[in-house]
Amino acid sequence: MKSLEELLRPNIRDLAPYSSARNEYSGRVARVFLDANESPYNAPYNRYPDPLQTELKAAISKVKGVAVENIFLGNGSDEAIDLPYRCFTRPGIDNVVAIEPTYGMYKVCADINDVEYRPVLLNERFQLEADKILAACDEKTKIVWLCSPNNPTGNSLDRDEMMKILEEFDGIVIIDEAYSDFAKQKSFRHDIDNHPNLIVLNTMSKAWGCAAIRLGMAFAQKDIISVFNKVKYPYNVNLLTQQKALEIMKDPFDVDKWVRMLLGERSRMCDAFRLLPICKEVFPSDANFFLARMTDAQAIYDYLVERGIIVRNRTRITLCRNCLRITIGTRSENNELLAALRQYI
Ligand SMILES: *Cc1c(COP(=O)(O)O)cnc(C)c1O
Repeated sequence: MKSLEELLRPNIRDLAPYSSARNEYSGRVARVFLDANESPYNAPYNRYPDPLQTELKAAISKVKGVAVENIFLGNGSDEAIDLPYRCFTRPGIDNVVAIEPTYGMYKVCADINDVEYRPVLLNERFQLEADKILAACDEKTKIVWLCSPNNPTGNSLDRDEMMKILEEFDGIVIIDEAYSDFAKQKSFRHDIDNHPNLIVLNTMSKAWGCAAIRLGMAFAQKDIISVFNKVKYPYNVNLLTQQKALEIMKDPFDVDKWVRMLLGERSRMCDAFRLLPICKEVFPSDANFFLARMTDAQAIYDYLVERGIIVRNRTRITLCRNCLRITIGTRSENNELLAALRQYI
């Protein structure tokens, strides 16, 4: 791997970060806060939140088995997807390589940051081929994007192929594990100690049932975490989000139950889809959704919308011709979908 100094944008490497009022005092017990131009009224909302989310990170550390110093928290994964561009890639000069098809935000953020985006096709089983990814990289490639389980395909990527990219690529490898709570495969977050170029993303938006509060995570060695902390908005995770996330992290038993129910429903739904005359293929899923190839995705999508049922039409995505992406809902929601599809003519 290249050194972090070589990989970082020069302006970020040399950046003197904003120093907030709350950053500057530390250690001593304070009683009177007249440093941040806050209102003394309307507690607790009058105070700026903890910029480094110390208490929440301690709780996440226990649940995820990752040291506090290796955790970055952001305003959804969206922030943790945008930050690496702003830290590593020089607009108009550098490029990133990503699997295709995958989650659309990697490309949107590349376009916003004026960074060349190089998609590399998965094979017909939606599997990763490390050599093809490595062949697409050159000396200006700063980041390789992997997503496992992948969206919209649903499958986990081959672990050995991912490991090969981690070991042979000399830049940053980001593995988005938004759906890892639904997968059997071991998370890459336990490999960060051995791989200084690895960033693993996670989110509260899927298995944790907290899409509304906007909390995403990045796990990496502490040098990378320090750079993210330097570049992020000082108070990027608001107080309400920190409080709500802490509450659910301290009592995650519902989440385990939700995941078990969704996995049961996923297998029931996949089996039921395979029996539908209008379904040609159900792709294997390690997530809380699955991809199904239909006879005519657009017509079936329109028919469902007409009945107030919204699925995701992926027919225009590379390799996903005539595919619908179905999120697993409650048992009764899933039954509504099946009933509608069984009446489709
Ligand atoms: C849903 C999803 C996310 C979550 O993004 P948030 O900003 O945390 O809500 C991240 N990555 C992938 C691949 C997703 O599908």
